[in-house]
Amino acid sequence: MKPRTAAILTTGCRLNQSESDALRQKLLLQGVTVVESPQPADVYYVNTCTVTAGADRSSMQLVHRACRDALRLKPDAPRQTTETLRVECDADSVTRRASVVVLGCLAQRDPGRLRPIAGVNEVWSNERKQKEIEGLVPSPVRSRAILKVQDGCSRRCSYCVVSSLRGEPVSVPADTVAEQFERLRAGFGEIVLTGLNLGMYRDRDGTGLAGLLGRLLSRCDGGRIRLASIEPDTIDDALLELLSDERLCPHLHVPLQSGDDAVLAAMRRPYRTRDFQQMLARAVAARPDLAIGCDVICGFPGEDESSFERTRRFLGELPLAYLHVFSFSLRPGTEERVKRERVKQEGVKQETQRAEVCVVRERVKELRRFSEQRRQEYGARFVGTVRGAIVETGRSALTDNYLRLGVSCPAGLAPGALARFRINMESGKLYGSLC
Ligand code: SF4
Repeated sequence: MKPRTAAILTTGCRLNQSESDALRQKLLLQGVTVVESPQPADVYYVNTCTVTAGADRSSMQLVHRACRDALRLKPDAPRQTTETLRVECDADSVTRRASVVVLGCLAQRDPGRLRPIAGVNEVWSNERKQKEIEGLVPSPVRSRAILKVQDGCSRRCSYCVVSSLRGEPVSVPADTVAEQFERLRAGFGEIVLTGLNLGMYRDRDGTGLAGLLGRLLSRCDGGRIRLASIEPDTIDDALLELLSDERLCPHLHVPLQSGDDAVLAAMRRPYRTRDFQQMLARAVAARPDLAIGCDVICGFPGEDESSFERTRRFLGELPLAYLHVFSFSLRPGTEERVKRERVKQEGVKQETQRAEVCVVRERVKELRRFSEQRRQEYGARFVGTVRGAIVETGRSALTDNYLRLGVSCPAGLAPGALARFRINMESGKLYGSLC
């Protein structure tokens, strides 16, 4: 029997969100009503992530939640997912609960861990996921649309498991992106371009990300485009030139990972701190109101006190608006790459290892405090100014330069609308009054 309702639970990056949005569109086209979990559904799709041990944990929690909801909320649902699915199950369970399908990077990396979970009916590989959503325009439930233009990465940074799970770089042809962009523009004031390694975008004729962006910006009057996370060494002159275009959000999120060159080398990152700093200086010169955010990993094997001190100092010199700080987590499949540095740790007594975990935790805390301070300082620069912001709910809006404002919107201003707000600050929080 064809399912009538489905729920999609997603964790992880913007790429995953955009793929869940495409799956949603597929279901809608099939006449399936997509409900918000925990409403009862005939099928629960769980789109997982495995970038860190924490992402594994969140993914497993979602899988278990879906299995519980399937049993509790929909005890007598039919079990097929899409027409293409063939579900194997015992006759008893057919009448007892809804279906659970697990997809995403954890499903790709460790299907054997997911299949035996009571309630899980199907585990999709990433190849299967891409096949299911191919060519579909995402149907977002959020205030901003996320458009995937690229997937895969040919690099093998020593800590990264995702590039091996998502395969070699693949780009969506520019004509297809332009067509999907037009359709999303009809309903959304902001479109976020995303990819696993966005700067690796190449159309069939060799056009890079800047060429694609230039083409989309020319069709974006009255709206705006934001770039999702982009690798620092892929930000070229052509892209920097586009930063001065008012229709491109003044926001760069760039994974730095460490401010110590030896650690960057051990991570196999293809740039050094000097390159990074120079690139940001040019970006800020092109767009002085730019909001710059970085990812930083604390506790990569070999990061000792002096290398952390170099990172701390380097971050202090950068024109940052915020950081995303993670503690290093060794991913299955990356052991060989990280081994060279891990060797130094072998033989270390358990107590010492525990002490090292505490040190890493303290480093994470310290950088998060630094991030909060920079967030405050960056926000304070814009008090009294008027900026365009996307209404997220009746209570919050996101400016082009990535400031989240508390707002109180009139009923006519729906989520996704682009409006202008004057920024003010009270007790360290930013608010916007509609202009
Ligand atoms: S560039 Fe990014 S996606 Fe590619 S291997 Fe490095 S961390 Fe992974």
